Amino acid sequence: MSHPTYPTLLSPLDLGFTTLRNRVIMGSMHTGLEEEKDFSRMAQFFALRAKGDVGLIVTGGFSPDMFGALKPMGSKLTTKKEVRKHKLVTEAVHAEGGKICLQVLHAGRYGYHPLCVAPSKEKSPISMFTPWRLPKWGIKRTINNFARCAKLAKEAGYDGIEIMGSEGYLLNQFIAKRVNKRTDEWGGSYENRIRFPLEVVRTVRKAVGKDFIIIFRLSMLDLVEDGSTKEEVVQLAKELETAGVTLLNTGIGWHEARIPTIATSVPRGAFSGITAQIKEHVTIPVITSNRINTPSVAEDILSEGKADMVSMARPFLADPNLVQKAKDSDEASINVCIACNQACLDHVFEQKVASCLVNPFACHETEMPKETTTTPKNIIVVGAGMAGLATAVTAAQRGHTVELWEQASEIGGQFNMAKRIPGKGEFYETLKYFTHHLKKSGVTVKLNHAATTQSLKESAADHIVLATGVHPRPISLPGIEHPNVLNYVDVLRHDKPIGEKVALIGAGGIAFDVVEFLNHERTHSQHLPELDEYFKTWGIDHEFTERSGLTKAHPPQAKHQITMMQRSKGKLGARLGKTTGWIHRSQAKTFGVTMLSEVSYQKIDENGHLHITVQDRPQILEVDTIILCAGQVPNRDVLSGLEDLPVTLIGGADIASELDAKRAIRQGTEFALSI
Ligand code: NAP
Ligand code: SF4
Repeated sequence: MSHPTYPTLLSPLDLGFTTLRNRVIMGSMHTGLEEEKDFSRMAQFFALRAKGDVGLIVTGGFSPDMFGALKPMGSKLTTKKEVRKHKLVTEAVHAEGGKICLQVLHAGRYGYHPLCVAPSKEKSPISMFTPWRLPKWGIKRTINNFARCAKLAKEAGYDGIEIMGSEGYLLNQFIAKRVNKRTDEWGGSYENRIRFPLEVVRTVRKAVGKDFIIIFRLSMLDLVEDGSTKEEVVQLAKELETAGVTLLNTGIGWHEARIPTIATSVPRGAFSGITAQIKEHVTIPVITSNRINTPSVAEDILSEGKADMVSMARPFLADPNLVQKAKDSDEASINVCIACNQACLDHVFEQKVASCLVNPFACHETEMPKETTTTPKNIIVVGAGMAGLATAVTAAQRGHTVELWEQASEIGGQFNMAKRIPGKGEFYETLKYFTHHLKKSGVTVKLNHAATTQSLKESAADHIVLATGVHPRPISLPGIEHPNVLNYVDVLRHDKPIGEKVALIGAGGIAFDVVEFLNHERTHSQHLPELDEYFKTWGIDHEFTERSGLTKAHPPQAKHQITMMQRSKGKLGARLGKTTGWIHRSQAKTFGVTMLSEVSYQKIDENGHLHITVQDRPQILEVDTIILCAGQVPNRDVLSGLEDLPVTLIGGADIASELDAKRAIRQGTEFALSI
């Protein structure tokens, strides 16, 4: 009998020699666990997702040889010795009734090491290494290495492999003229350029036999100059089918493309239309991907016939039980991925093991057991921002009796400002998640309930958690009381009127958020990005009539003349997230924001104009509004007088500098696990 809410998503898919239990793939994503000596953490990580009923898992990328590694000593599968480690993973997944494929990824010129290779000696704009040109014998050797890797994967117990042919990695580099400048039989005409990926598939199929899944991740939209046309992608898709591919996956955009394809500001399921255009031309099942984060989004795409399966990677970091919860028609309890990249991709780029902002257990399951307490306590948590919410829910889930006191009329703290930033509409999902789980775990929530030292002293709490958050950092500057001076809370929370010319003091994440906020229509309801606006802003040809899917960008007009400043040296926004910071900087540039570093603030005169020096040269900014975005200080207003009570400070109340939701949620969760 089909599922009442997700009939297509939860229906099995018969591949002939094997059947997948539903249409959901946990897509490949590098987590850093691939580089660990021992794979038990990885085994547990995937086993938990298999237990949560996902249809098929794809591991992070493993190179078929040392030249294709992502970094020196990066993950690879090249020897029998390595097979033993992988068996731990496949056995753990199979024990939970799951299926798992190994992703074979040859980084080509994206390899961050001096041995990286490519079809031609063409350096990538995002790498410092110029690749070696693969000689003909090197190409043949690489093809054989793919086959060796696939055979070893089979020996390790994998149900199949995914060949990474997109995102600008080696196979994609051969396909596109952008990197392939060869004049031999591996370059030149399109037939020659696709010879390499096709040979890889044929050789792999020969090596592994019929009954083994081969997924090919095909770059359907390159989003860089000199990529493929739609006709070329269709031709390759058809030939891949003939060469022996079982499932065709969707890849969108090279890593060097300057168009966001997975960030929060990308509309949900934005590229399923592209998958649909390719699916028409093949008979094998086709998988779609990118910004699919809930079962409903996935069901809509599948029921419209745009794809046969959906791939979600980050959503399984956010919630290992996403599929199980869909099966139980319990969508409200899903911890939805908000596409922030802050704890997953950003960690991997910083050489750290990935986790998840909304689910700090992700990839750390073995170190963070959530056990029922044997000594239940009465706990009062003051403040329902991210730190307080995470503490309250986790502590209650462990069996403590928890009261959550919040002086505002709603939960969420700083998130209530963040959710209003254009492109951050997903943040509403985290608030919905906590609202649901506060209720489910039996937390007593007291809104409009300001804590005082007295009321806390008189409470019957065994432990008090102060998650009272932050205050905007006050600045002492002559003239700071001028009515033209606001802080970011006045703007993002209270919608105070803003003049045309604006000066921003401070250039952190919040200042960039204010730039977005001031340049878009404001709303108090959940605002998810619009598909047409996104395509127009970034110049994406979603009809795919132009090569690479690129067309002229039409960014929105600036609504304000903004100057953003910092006292320190260097590029503004340099400390923003690795994988999303460039988007914020590029948007600010589009809006014509003037960026000043090495600024010293002198005074605000009676006209509300800001006097500064920039590298010791005096300037007067004749602005209408000055907005302080100068960071935060801890809010410990109720702390004094509580010295004799068991009190723990968490989140911004503990350390305000550079506080973000990731640290707040993790700290709250860890504390609740420890008490
Ligand atoms: P922040 O990132 O700490 O930035 C504070 C800014 O204020 C800096 O540019 C700093 O530059 C300036 N500043 C500090 N003290 C000052 C003073 N006394 N006088 C004048 N300027 C001063 O803080 P935030 O922007 O409020 O962000 C808070 C947290 O939220 C951060 O952890 C941030 O990462 C996170 N967040 C991230 C994003 C994102 O990644 N998109 C968005 C929003 C928030 P100088 O010291 O050089 O002047
Ligand atoms: Fe999603 Fe952000 Fe978690 Fe990454 S860190 S999985 S993007 S919610």
